[in-house]
Amino acid sequence: MAAGQTGQCLCGDIRFRLDGEVIRTNACHCAQCRRWGGHYWPSADVDQEKLVITHGAESIAWYESSEEAERGFCIVCGSSLFWRRTRGDTSYVSVAIGALNTPTGVKVDKHIFVEDKGDYYSI
Ligand SMILES: [Zn+2]
Ligand SMILES: [Zn+2]
Repeated sequence: MAAGQTGQCLCGDIRFRLDGEVIRTNACHCAQCRRWGGHYWPSADVDQEKLVITHGAESIAWYESSEEAERGFCIVCGSSLFWRRTRGDTSYVSVAIGALNTPTGVKVDKHIFVEDKGDYYSI
């Protein structure tokens, strides 16, 4: 992925840019991600300061999904956009690959929490 990749939520109010390289990508199959995103959740990790919200920052709400992490979504359209730690390694934020504009320039490297995956699909 070239730095400068852009993305947005479904309604387009929240728009963002990734100013740095993607650290890693993965697709999380845990029950929380599946409930939150409707299916497993592919994301790209970037340094927190490299995620630049270019429009609609006031429409982002953070849901504390566990004692260790919170999930950012659009209060207008409900898009599941960001995941970040609230303790431990808070240096990065996971960004929904599905929200990136195409061509995204990224590939999912890894499937995680596969043991928790849903019973309705195969990997
Ligand atoms: Zn939206
Ligand atoms: Zn997950």
